[in-house]
Amino acid sequence: MKITINLPENVKTIIERLEAAGYEAYAVGGCVRDSLEGITPPDYDIATGAVPGEIKKAFSGYRIVDIGEKHGTIAVISDGGKVEITSFRTDGNYSDNRHPDEVTFTRDLKSDMSRRDFTVNAMAYSEKTGLIDVFGGEQDLKDGILRCVGEPEKRFSEDALRIMRALRFMSERGFTCEENTENAIRGLKNNLLKIAPERIQTEFDRLLLGEHAERIINEYYDVLGVIFPELLACAGFDQRNKYHVYDVLTHIAKTISAAPKARVLRLAMFFHDIAKPACFKLVDNHGSFKGHAEKSAEIAEKTMRRLRYDNAAVSRVKLLVERHNDDLQADEISVKHLLNKLGFDTLLQLCEVLIADDSAKASFVKEELKNHHAVIEKAREIKASRACYSLGQLAVNGDDIKKLGYEGKKIGEVLNKLLNSVIENKTENKKEALLNDISGHRD
Ligand code: ATP
Ligand code: MG
Repeated sequence: MKITINLPENVKTIIERLEAAGYEAYAVGGCVRDSLEGITPPDYDIATGAVPGEIKKAFSGYRIVDIGEKHGTIAVISDGGKVEITSFRTDGNYSDNRHPDEVTFTRDLKSDMSRRDFTVNAMAYSEKTGLIDVFGGEQDLKDGILRCVGEPEKRFSEDALRIMRALRFMSERGFTCEENTENAIRGLKNNLLKIAPERIQTEFDRLLLGEHAERIINEYYDVLGVIFPELLACAGFDQRNKYHVYDVLTHIAKTISAAPKARVLRLAMFFHDIAKPACFKLVDNHGSFKGHAEKSAEIAEKTMRRLRYDNAAVSRVKLLVERHNDDLQADEISVKHLLNKLGFDTLLQLCEVLIADDSAKASFVKEELKNHHAVIEKAREIKASRACYSLGQLAVNGDDIKKLGYEGKKIGEVLNKLLNSVIENKTENKKEALLNDISGHRD
């Protein structure tokens, strides 16, 4: 049966225009893979036998953006948005394990398909020809198999980013790795050290957010250990601790999948216990990990900086990891203090971290989950009621305090004292009451 894929109108128009000019043109790569799986692709890439100059000529009158003409990619802006068109090409030698030394344009679709990483990513489609599947990508997709196009060792030696892409695709799509592909990934894992940190970051984020992150972290911890060396000691590390039923790595992997799909939360879970093996001490035959939250936070910060994460992500993950053992109380006054210290969004994230963490411990610990959910509930309630928990909400400000004769640091101290008093329901959040309170204190 001939397979049909519903391409968007603008993609069809672009393909037809290239065909009318005498060139082959197809939708290729991720969009074909996604369409065959019934997933709407985030974008469509087109490959063509036309070289960049010929593409430009075929689209004279259109807005064109040069994305990387040297590598043969040109974007055409049409009614349906931006579509990237890439000339069929073969890649030359890869002397740096990442970039081809030069690319050569070709008129032959098959040559272009053979430079692509995995069989599921090496299919082409057009209305005119239907599916063109030179390497058995369709069958691999049906079987859920990730397999290199060509010789795996050669392909991962050419470009080690493909190792991270493989892990990411497996995590996102649940593929299992074909044996030779898997052996080559493990054998060549050290080449990951040659890859730009920003590229690792992008793939690693997608790996963590994948539906199958738990399995991939467990199965490929040795490969990830090239980038995150502290992970290696976590594998099989027996915690000898009544709160835990899993070794450190298994626990970490479970908490990642238990956390909501938000980048900082999943990063926080990845790092939260990473320093446990280094902090382990046996006290009365019970495993103790004193100081591991702070040490794990240090590792998170150092590692995320090395991988060029943005400052906001680094400081948020660091805080969440540092506090992942905090004992949060769900009563109103405690939650107001927490809201003041952390802010609403961060407090909710910290609760999510605690929930993910406790859900992967011994079953009696799961009693704690009720408490963490109660903190979230209470925080929402306080926010909705617009009750005062921060200096900005206080009915007096710095100027009011200054008028009473206070100066410098003292002003902040008085304001904070008043805020605590309001949070603890000792003073009403009204200007008069607050000012009275101060004179009371001064006497
Ligand atoms: P997604 O868009 O979901 O990340 P994708 O497969 O479209 O998946 P892209 O990075 O958009 O991934 O790349 C488009 C296509 O280019 C891929 O499907 C693949 O055929 C090819 N490709 C991308 N990166 C590489 C690489 N490092 N080595 C070989 N081929 C690659
Ligand atoms: Mg894509």
